[in-house]
Amino acid sequence: MQYAVLSDIHGNLEALTAVADALKAEGISRVLCLGDIVGYGADPSACLERIQGMGAPIVCGNHEAGCIGRLSLDWFHDAAKAALEWTRDQLSFGELDTLRRMPMIETTDAFTLVHASPRHPERFTYLFDAAHAAEALSHCRTPICLVGHTHIPWFVAWDKSRRALLHVAAEPAALENATWDAKDPNARVLINPGSVGQPRDGDPRASFAVVDPEAGTCSIRRVVYAISAAQEKIRRAGLPAILADRLAVGR
Ligand code: ZN
Repeated sequence: MQYAVLSDIHGNLEALTAVADALKAEGISRVLCLGDIVGYGADPSACLERIQGMGAPIVCGNHEAGCIGRLSLDWFHDAAKAALEWTRDQLSFGELDTLRRMPMIETTDAFTLVHASPRHPERFTYLFDAAHAAEALSHCRTPICLVGHTHIPWFVAWDKSRRALLHVAAEPAALENATWDAKDPNARVLINPGSVGQPRDGDPRASFAVVDPEAGTCSIRRVVYAISAAQEKIRRAGLPAILADRLAVGR
């Protein structure tokens, strides 16, 4: 069974719409969301409504946490902070309440969903290297751990019985077709789907993952979207210009 994993949408409705269209074309209806639906972009309410409409389980990102006071705004750099103050003013009381009800971590049979790291979800630490990722995975009871936060797609697989790192993928070609042995009860996988609404790996296209836990496959997909329309909305809303500019370069 295939699941679409979406993270770091960041109020970018154009990117989210392009991803939703791609999922519809492929007939993928099960969606998991790793948080940061809001912040940076000009369409926080519409993105929240869209994701909820997909019936996706959602975990709380640092930008949701910032909006509802779960995380101090001093944690964020200036442009992010300005965007969060703007975002908080855009959201209705009902929408803020929706953010408040988002869990920090969610577990299904196959998946652990968390925005940053399963070790201390509320600290929003960044997982960049395989050793830290392996340590973080020891806090997961499920075979697959799904994380976002870095905005950079990544795939890491271990066999813990052999203490062996099986596969680390950060290159586009390898990320398109990453696999593991789903029948091995000792296999553990960490997947970062990249960012739908603000990619930072140099590829400006929206990023998401399609994961099949039974088959042991993970595919990072990229779709083009109307970047200039998203940029125009950010500029018109009076948000920091850097937030519009960076979308064009994927940084
Ligand atoms: Zn983010």
